[in-house]
Amino acid sequence: MIKTRGYAAHDATSPLVPFEFERRDPGPRDVHIEILFCGICHSDLHQARNDWHGSLYPMVPGHEIVGRVAAVGSQVKKFKVGDLAGVGCMIDSCRTCAPCSRDLEQYCVEGATWTYNDHERGSERLAFGGYSDHIVVEERFVVRVPANLDLRAVAPLLCAGITTYSPLMHWKVGKGQRVGVIGLGGLGHMGIKFAHALGAHVVAITTSPGKSADAHRLGADEVLISRDEAAMAAQARSFQFLLNTVPNGHDLNPYAALLDVDGTMVLVGALTELMPPLRGSSVIGGRKSIAGSGIGGMRETQEMLDFCGAHSIVADIEMVSASGINAAYERMLRNDVKYRFVIDAATLKE
Ligand code: NAP
Ligand code: ZN
Ligand code: ZN
Repeated sequence: MIKTRGYAAHDATSPLVPFEFERRDPGPRDVHIEILFCGICHSDLHQARNDWHGSLYPMVPGHEIVGRVAAVGSQVKKFKVGDLAGVGCMIDSCRTCAPCSRDLEQYCVEGATWTYNDHERGSERLAFGGYSDHIVVEERFVVRVPANLDLRAVAPLLCAGITTYSPLMHWKVGKGQRVGVIGLGGLGHMGIKFAHALGAHVVAITTSPGKSADAHRLGADEVLISRDEAAMAAQARSFQFLLNTVPNGHDLNPYAALLDVDGTMVLVGALTELMPPLRGSSVIGGRKSIAGSGIGGMRETQEMLDFCGAHSIVADIEMVSASGINAAYERMLRNDVKYRFVIDAATLKE
């Protein structure tokens, strides 16, 4: 067994505290990764605080993991000791159902095995995530990390990156389209970078006028303040695509009004009820679509990382020590993050 240091939540209301546990020794198809950095996703906070109900404790959150391979099982082909490697939101799935066969493991019919807040597949053992210094994952769920990028800023690509890249690819966003990214946080800032790299005309749609300069630096062509009703009205029916990263239930109607005929708004942020309800007229007039998208499959996650390597795309980050995780959560709730906190795993030893 591999002695591992981490940080864990023990219930929905207490701060995360140091937590020691053991990882399994790598089996024939496993990769043992010494974790170097792990991003802090808003989903970590939602789950640590039981926002989505049914959280399993103790919980070691973290699904934006990068590190160096420390050992590989005898049948591992893609990795050798010393390679860089990444792990995202999933560590397993059934591998045989229709979605798994289409490289959409996140939509596995049996349910994917999540990196934390889940049980290891076919076991009673809790799965512990990336706020820790070691992890052991089967090769299929480990991705290669381009060597030319700042590794600390690569970590957030494993969730914020793939969650925004995947819908932009699926809905074929590109040149000649007006694309709005709603919410300028961890996901949203990556959405702006990807949509810009794909050649779209990008509008950052934000509640925070103070983020305008950043939005332009990240690649937005325009900034639209969503609380400014006149500005919203002026942009009605002008977008072919909207990527909505708002983390909580909110009013979709004003955003749907921004869509052009046949436009699509894809929800990636809010997993809970959306209130007030969506009016039918918000989508009927204009044949508009409202859709959703969850992370991305392992093949596409690798494709996204290779795209980032080729286009020198990484997240904008602020480093925190393990003891700073709780303060980082509070700042994320105050909308005070530019644009992703990343934990330096070396500080777990302090
Ligand atoms: P984040 O860093 O906290 O960013 C969220 C942003 O949304 C904020 O920076 C803010 O941007 C905006 N916002 C916050 N509250 C708002 C409100 N009430 N109304 C309008 N805008 C608001 O969070 P994140 O890490 O990007 O995650 C966003 C959500 O995506 C979370 O709920 C997370 O659980 C979810 N998620 C989903 C997936 C998936 O697979 N679909 C994957 C990862 C995360 P402005 O200041 O610009 O308004
Ligand atoms: Zn996440
Ligand atoms: Zn499956």
